[in-house]
Amino acid sequence: MKCQFKVSIIGCGSVGAAGAYAMLLDGTPTDLTLIDLDADLARGVRTDFEHALSFNEFTKLEASGEIEACAGSNLVFVTAGARQKEGQTRLELIEVNRKIFSDIIPRIAKAAPNAIIVIVTNPVDILTHEAIKLANLPDGRVFGTGTMLDTARFQYHIGEALEVSPRSVEAYVLGEHGDSSFPVFSSAQIGGKHILNFENFGEAGLQKAYEVTREAAYRIIHDMGYTCYSIGVVMREIMKHVFENSRIVLPLSTLLNDYYGHSDVCLSVPCILGENGIESTIKIPLNEEEQQKLAHSVKVVKGVN
Ligand code: NAD
Repeated sequence: MKCQFKVSIIGCGSVGAAGAYAMLLDGTPTDLTLIDLDADLARGVRTDFEHALSFNEFTKLEASGEIEACAGSNLVFVTAGARQKEGQTRLELIEVNRKIFSDIIPRIAKAAPNAIIVIVTNPVDILTHEAIKLANLPDGRVFGTGTMLDTARFQYHIGEALEVSPRSVEAYVLGEHGDSSFPVFSSAQIGGKHILNFENFGEAGLQKAYEVTREAAYRIIHDMGYTCYSIGVVMREIMKHVFENSRIVLPLSTLLNDYYGHSDVCLSVPCILGENGIESTIKIPLNEEEQQKLAHSVKVVKGVN
């Protein structure tokens, strides 16, 4: 018998549906509840998913137009809100999505007081900070996907250039999940060898891999109108690590507390993730230039707060 693990997804647009689909195929959640202001959309996704159950681990599926349907959840993902249009930055979404958060986050925290809440909606760092204040839950129980996706993209592009699996690339993108994110070159390595020591790659190769990473969402939005599949897998990964209490280290958006002197702002730094959410952060060594880039990200995000 599987132990009960209920996951709710608030917002069943392209990101919410892709995340839910990745979790359905994974089979870990015993209960998957799909919630959207547009109840027909939530119901349609649920019905489509139900017809996959003959070929999959059984998952109890529910759909609702009411936030309160997340009651009893272990984990709630928030993807509700406006998405970027072509040419728009993530920061430009703040006004409309802040309004949505002021309504839904207190309702989530009330209906599912024991849940871990993961923010996906952009601008994710500012909205994570907003959600922490609105939910009033213990530290680490509300966090954002942050630069987990940017880091995966960066690892992919480095791996592609050096012909190694992205899973073997240890390199982070930290700071804002947005234009002021920054790559940590100083500790990037593969198999214990510093990335700058790989022949025919060097700083130019690394910089190129980061630039392609930073522009990735803009390119995908230009080509298909939105991004959803890779962030859907990021959601599945977070779900699995919370379920397994794996204490994996991931770059997630969390409330900083004197991190290189920065506090009262949510940004991505390496975090230890377990069954209670973010257990702690790791102070990654940053050189002078990287510390300046972190300070720049803080300034950008605080400037919009
Ligand atoms: P979408 O328009 O397809 O879906 C958003 C859904 O939210 C809609 O179905 C809408 O009905 C629903 N919604 C709006 N207000 C709601 C409310 N009050 N309660 C419940 N549901 C509500 O958008 P999308 O492409 O799925 O993107 C969703 C968000 O995820 C955007 O902000 C986007 O920028 C963000 N995103 C984040 C990342 C990341 O790495 N963090 C990656 C991709 C997209």
